[in-house]
Amino acid sequence: MKKLVYSFLSGLALMGLAGPAAWAQQMPAHRQCATMEVLAAQLAADPSYGARLQAIDQQATVYAKQKAANPGQRTSSSIIVTIPVVVHVLYNTAAQNISDAQVQSQLDVLNADFHRLNGDLSKVPAAFTSLIGDAGVQFVLAKRDPNGNATTGVVHKSTTATSFDSSDKMKFSSSGGDDAWPAASYLNLWSCNLGGGLLGYAQFPGGAAATDGVAILYSAFGSGGTAVAPYNLGRTATHEVGHWLNLRHIWGDARCGNDQVSDTPTQQTSNYGCPTFPHVTCSNGANGDMFMNYMDYVDDGCMQMFSSGQGDRMDALFATGGSRVSLLSSQGGVAPGTSPTPTPTPTPSVVYCASQGNAASQYIDYIKLGSISRTSGNDGGYYDGTALSTSVAAGSSQTISFSAGFASKAATMYFDVYADWNQNGSFGDAGETLVVAAGSTSKATRTATFTVPTTATAGSTRLRVVMSTNSATASCGTYSAGETEDYTLTVTGGAATRLGSPTDHYTIYPNPATDVLTIERPASADASRPLRVHVYDLRGAEVADLPLANDQLRVSTLRQGVYLLTVSDGTTTAHQRFVKQ
Ligand SMILES: [Zn+2]
Repeated sequence: MKKLVYSFLSGLALMGLAGPAAWAQQMPAHRQCATMEVLAAQLAADPSYGARLQAIDQQATVYAKQKAANPGQRTSSSIIVTIPVVVHVLYNTAAQNISDAQVQSQLDVLNADFHRLNGDLSKVPAAFTSLIGDAGVQFVLAKRDPNGNATTGVVHKSTTATSFDSSDKMKFSSSGGDDAWPAASYLNLWSCNLGGGLLGYAQFPGGAAATDGVAILYSAFGSGGTAVAPYNLGRTATHEVGHWLNLRHIWGDARCGNDQVSDTPTQQTSNYGCPTFPHVTCSNGANGDMFMNYMDYVDDGCMQMFSSGQGDRMDALFATGGSRVSLLSSQGGVAPGTSPTPTPTPTPSVVYCASQGNAASQYIDYIKLGSISRTSGNDGGYYDGTALSTSVAAGSSQTISFSAGFASKAATMYFDVYADWNQNGSFGDAGETLVVAAGSTSKATRTATFTVPTTATAGSTRLRVVMSTNSATASCGTYSAGETEDYTLTVTGGAATRLGSPTDHYTIYPNPATDVLTIERPASADASRPLRVHVYDLRGAEVADLPLANDQLRVSTLRQGVYLLTVSDGTTTAHQRFVKQ
């Protein structure tokens, strides 16, 4: 199938681009994206790219299958990937020099569309609402440039080029454009005057770093300013960034083609304008084409969704072995002078000791506790499952299930389970060893029960499971055979959560929070001082500004998961993790 697709693309390249030159000065009559033509040209120029793309597609397929079989692994609903963005604004006329506000409007659209927060989501026909996907990514304008200096993430640059085409000249200073920032750390967007009736084009994963990114016609960039209907809602970038995250056109770029996503209906070809539901083609059933998908060619106001399968395909790029996984450790979104590490350092009290087994032949292959349920193979002696969490009520009785896996012959394995109930970064306090399970050579699932102390601190904390050949309990250190796995527990109803040091006495509640997180100041604080609040995901990437009013932070737009909150009134700064439910 893929061979067929690629040879078809090569044919497209020979045909060249369609579109009368007269369109260069006005908006195209319908959407046209040059991504597949550019891909075809790149495949022709570099035959090894085809093999790389196939490997990336294979990884995406395996990821989607694994996720279906193992819902506990990284999904778009558990961790947000924050992608630093640089926008190269190239202008030959004053009008083409779009404002930073227009650039920001594009970021806002991307953050809504990839996060199913777009206001027009309700326009999706009922037949498709169960398939609406979440890409699990968010976008921030870069705060740090490749040299480590502060930046707005927007580069305005005058050019003598009156227009650009799909030959990548806008991506090189030597040809009137602006050089790409390192693709391993940034998403490059070029806003420029694209000719030939093009609204934009993207480069798929696996291509050359120097040309990696997305080019967009300045009058189809963002909303407001120079943006012109019907491409003035920022959806050209949504479509093109979809390609950049490995999505194909929804019709598979062939008659009744295959877009390599299982939950999008097969459709005959692209749709234009604003079709009427249903539009049945290729015998695709009563609901017809998913023409309101961002990867079709309809107008901005008529596209509203990615599918779940498309979300998985994008997610796969950020899983182990994924083609864009390097973005996870990018510092591009972190202002200079702040922590150079991708992991937030909340307070020293919540840094946990390492625990690591080193044998390949004995490993934990199953853990279940509440909503944590993970089946796995050999994770190399340690698995960081802290993105997975379950709620446990203070005072409740809990049952944890676990089992050992053996690559070759069975060994006698002991299980110890710990939880840091008082959130001080240690598993050594009284009552924090929850389970001491006897040695066994069985691979069968075993269970044990424990009680959550009524004195446990409310909020999120660490659960650690150690499986080793050693009968002694040890929550830290390196050992020979076995594996350690860490997860997150969210204690509800327990002792009040305190922010920072005991003298700060900021309290946040409720934790977990659904819509609003209230920040209660210490009695000694000056209530007139404005609070500054920052929220970071587990990798330390700052989450886009959340509305704060009357010391209440609106968190309803956050995805479920564990976050770090820092709060400052200008004199003291406190840190606390909280859980969005
Ligand atoms: Zn396209």
